Amino acid sequence: MDEDSRAPFTSLRRLATAEQACARCTLYRDATQAVPGEGPSGATFMLIGEQPGDKEDLAGKPFVGPAGRILDQALHDAGIARGDVFVTNAVKHFKHEMRGKRRLHKRPNTYEIDRCRIWLDGERKLVKPAVIIALGVTAARGVTGKAVIITKIRGKTLSLADSTKLFVTVHPSSLLRIEDEDEKHNAYRQFVADLKKAAAAV
Ligand code: SF4
Repeated sequence: MDEDSRAPFTSLRRLATAEQACARCTLYRDATQAVPGEGPSGATFMLIGEQPGDKEDLAGKPFVGPAGRILDQALHDAGIARGDVFVTNAVKHFKHEMRGKRRLHKRPNTYEIDRCRIWLDGERKLVKPAVIIALGVTAARGVTGKAVIITKIRGKTLSLADSTKLFVTVHPSSLLRIEDEDEKHNAYRQFVADLKKAAAAV
C-alpha cells in the first residue's frame, strides 16, 4: 500500500520503523539508515534541520555532530530546556557524494524534500508542538511546502494552517563555516536571539 493512503501512525516508534523501509526517493540507497526525529512526544518545540550529516547517518540519531553541539549550547543560552525539544530533519536519509573516502554533504533537492514531507508531517501530528523552528531553507521548505527566502522571513512569527507558530532561522552548521571569529560570534548571538524569540512565543 502506498504510504500516502494508509492510516496515520499511532506512535513515533512505528513512524520511525516505517521510515526505515521508505523508498519514496533514491536517497535511501547510499545511506546507512533513515534518521528519525528524536525527543518527547508532546514537546513544546520542534526543531527541524536539513538532513542527517555523516555522524548522524552512522549513529541513527539527529544532531549528534558538530552542528548539534552548537545547537545544544544555543538552546541553553536561549533558555529552552533540551527536554522540551523534539529534533528532526526535513529529509531523513543522508544525501552525499564520495570524494575519495570522504562522504561530502549534498543539499537535498525540492523533489526529495517534498517526497520526505510525509514523515515530517507524521512527526508533527504525533508531537503537536506549539512552536516549530525551521533551521535553514530546506527545513522551511519541508514545513511549508513552498520555496522561502530566509532573509525575508527570519525573525518573524509565522502561523501554519493548524495554528502552530513557525520561526525560521539559519542552520547551525552555517555558523561552523564562518572563519572570522567576530563574524562567527555575531552570527551565534543572532541565532540565539532567534531562539529566544521563539521561546517567548509560548
Ligand atoms: S529521504 Fe525521505 S523520502 Fe527519500 S527514501 Fe529517505 S525517508 Fe524516503
